[in-house]
Amino acid sequence: CSGNVEMEIDNLYKAVPQLHKVFNVIDKIGEGTFSAVYLGEAKMLDGGRERFALKRLIPTSHPARIAAELQCLTIAGGRENVMGATYCFRREGEVVIVMPYMEHQPIGEIIGLLSFEEVRLYIYNLLKALKHIHQFGIIHRDIKFNNFLYNRRAKMYSLVDFGLAQGTADTQIELLKVVKQRATQKAGGATGKTDTGVPGKKAPRASDTPTPLTTTGPPSPPQPQQQSAAPPSSSSSSTTATVTPTTATSSPLPRTSTVSPALTCHCFQTERVCNICMSRKKQVAPRAGTPGFRAPEVLTCCPTQGTAIDVWSAGVILLSLLSNRYPFFKGSEDLVSLTQIMIVRGSRETVQAAQTFGKAVVCSRELPRQDLRLLCERLRGRRPAPDGDEARLGEGKEDQEEGPRPSGVAAAPPGAEGVRAEEEEERGWDRVPGEAYGLLDRLLDLNPATRITAAEALLHPLFTDLH
Ligand code: ADP
Ligand code: MG
Repeated sequence: CSGNVEMEIDNLYKAVPQLHKVFNVIDKIGEGTFSAVYLGEAKMLDGGRERFALKRLIPTSHPARIAAELQCLTIAGGRENVMGATYCFRREGEVVIVMPYMEHQPIGEIIGLLSFEEVRLYIYNLLKALKHIHQFGIIHRDIKFNNFLYNRRAKMYSLVDFGLAQGTADTQIELLKVVKQRATQKAGGATGKTDTGVPGKKAPRASDTPTPLTTTGPPSPPQPQQQSAAPPSSSSSSTTATVTPTTATSSPLPRTSTVSPALTCHCFQTERVCNICMSRKKQVAPRAGTPGFRAPEVLTCCPTQGTAIDVWSAGVILLSLLSNRYPFFKGSEDLVSLTQIMIVRGSRETVQAAQTFGKAVVCSRELPRQDLRLLCERLRGRRPAPDGDEARLGEGKEDQEEGPRPSGVAAAPPGAEGVRAEEEEERGWDRVPGEAYGLLDRLLDLNPATRITAAEALLHPLFTDLH
């Protein structure tokens, strides 16, 4: 490993010296906002060696948050495609969670090689993990490729990272009752993981700046610090966002780059916040998670969010796999993500669904709902794309990092088209059953109340032979 990583490993040994007795830390395997993960080899009593993943949490993580993550792993983990915890080291504020090491391939490296059957099994196994954690009343809140480890060769899957998890009202994870109650006291920032889930504890390296899409609650005494809050809609507790494609194109789809969000309220236009707007209380709702995977109810700061948000993220994953675009939604900020969702799922449908959970979304131009099969086949290169507008979908960046381009996006060398078509057929992409798009449609139901659950999805006709 590189010099930098060696220094980090030295630093890890210094922070938690007891690691030395058991582990030989070999390399760094991952880094997120709140942790770094290392590969460690344990010297076993029988002389053998076993590999483990060592997750070092940043010392500023709140103890309740850390304990809740650990409790999810120990109580729900270790089965049903959910990662378990083997041990945990602590020295003062330093915590290292030890988990079985699972070799895996980053999805960006293999997405273009996957067969339809592999995709079907991948999504089945993800739904299995979701059904399991949802039975425990755990909402993961950060379902994405990087948190669902996949070993293609061994056909192994594992859901990791309960660092943002929250509990449902009847959660069986006692410590999630603590973080849940606290997490909703603070709204997150604009991008990435933003919520420590603990009161008075700000997420490090995260922005607390309210996004243009701000929620409003019932009137309360004027609060000057809310000046940057968005103006309210006509309904008293709703979010108003007007999505305005600035350039009219003849294409059925606007280029995402020309779709810019704007807010409608006279005070927004005059750049002054009126008294009514000023008097509105900001509606707080958890918004943690990764842009691009957030459900519409998360993007609009709906205060009641449940396990359905994880199912939406699983839908984004399936959309990405079926279209060979990684990641699918660029989603640098919430309004852009919402616009991209409207491009695929329709603006009228989004507005209607948002109404059901008490949010008023306004879109100044009608964006028709896409046929999911046509969309995926076009993006996969199986059908000609209209003016390349849709091609802009799927050029996003998971975790705001430069992700590898899916092979479908990279320009094909001359003469490669025939070869690609042949390979696609070998991998079953010429005979994707309608059920795959049927399931996708149910996972990406804009209305969380009618969205399919993970348990129901496992019984979907797409998986008949796997029941
Ligand atoms: P973070 O909260 O920082 O995102 P994660 O728990 O998601 O932390 O771990 C970050 C990365 O480390 C994962 O995306 C994965 O690549 C790797 N990783 C985590 N746990 C394991 C494990 N048990 N086995 C192998 N790799 C792991
Ligand atoms: Mg992670």
